[in-house]
Amino acid sequence: MSVYLDYNATTPIDERVLDYMIENYRSVIGNADSRTHGFGEKARATVENSRKQVAELLSVVPEEVFFTSGATESINIAIQGLREYAERTGRNHIVTTAIEHKAVLETVKYLSTLGYEVDIISPDETGRGQACEVLNRVKDNTLLVSVMHVNNETGIIQPVDEIGKRLKNSEVLFHVDATQSCGKLVEEIQALDYNMLSFSAHKLTGPQGVGALVLRRRAYRLPPVKAIMYGGQQECGLRPGTIPVALVAGCGKACEIAKKEYKQNWNHANIIKAKLREILNRSGLEYEFNGDPAYCVSNTFNISLRGIASEALMISTKQYCGISNGSACTSKNYSPSYVLEAMGFPRERIESSIRVSWGPQTVLDEAAENFSRLLEIAKQMKN
Ligand code: PLP
Repeated sequence: MSVYLDYNATTPIDERVLDYMIENYRSVIGNADSRTHGFGEKARATVENSRKQVAELLSVVPEEVFFTSGATESINIAIQGLREYAERTGRNHIVTTAIEHKAVLETVKYLSTLGYEVDIISPDETGRGQACEVLNRVKDNTLLVSVMHVNNETGIIQPVDEIGKRLKNSEVLFHVDATQSCGKLVEEIQALDYNMLSFSAHKLTGPQGVGALVLRRRAYRLPPVKAIMYGGQQECGLRPGTIPVALVAGCGKACEIAKKEYKQNWNHANIIKAKLREILNRSGLEYEFNGDPAYCVSNTFNISLRGIASEALMISTKQYCGISNGSACTSKNYSPSYVLEAMGFPRERIESSIRVSWGPQTVLDEAAENFSRLLEIAKQMKN
């Protein structure tokens, strides 16, 4: 059977999360914003308990957590929601990096069509956008700096700690896309200085279709973000629409589990990485890591297998492994990875790259066995 090694696209749901969600679907039938009966109160209590679980994972207060449909929506609110403030203050300059998820890149591109000035910083070949380059672009009218914590394609950790520290006492808002780090780099996120943070539950063994935007208070005030949709007062008016109670419950549960288990998950992922690297080294195939392994999270690697077309390899090894060569939202039609392009790699290297990512439910022996088979096919393709 094929082994799933595409956790950065989405993770299988944790059984405990699923059980808790089913229990909620069965027993919590009210709308969390119905004030006039106990059914609503019960739904509200579930939502508030989940908010607390998210807040505890991130070490923020529950009032700073706003549930959304996931990272894409959180990011859109964080960026587009600043438009009114930008118009009022004349701050219309944004700094971000070329390796952000499209949710950031396409949103800032849209704002640039409205007259915003956008600076996009390219990383070097280590896969890291340099903090000093980001910070050097900040100027008097800078509204926002948006940088991801961990890149989804390479797994490379970005210098958000340094950027956050430097922006801490400035007027510039700092948004961190923590979609790939939430539940993994727990202590790092807890120690980060930021104004806004986005994530999706399905990247940390929670359900798809739910996530959160975290807005940190400064001097008791939330960042000046306004709703980008209208239609209700849910989530303090920031995200109107009926709260999907069971999804939110699943999000909270996934965060609670991650808080308890992130260390063992990290170690488990490291053991798998060591094994896969050993298999790679023994295979005799020539390969290069895309990005500096010293900065890579424990559940991912992105490698170029010299002389092997990754598209052909993935198709001919589907029966062994589910892997990818880019982010799922850009993979409908093949186009070379914009992340690897931004890192300055030649086309040949990009077209021979694969992303392998795993997680808490990955079984070491199964992953090792199937990855070995994939490499056997790769060797045949080379001959
Ligand atoms: N940001 C990063 C770094 C991601 O990896 C993803 C999803 O792959 C997103 C944002 C968007 O998440 P979603 O599709 O759950 O909204």
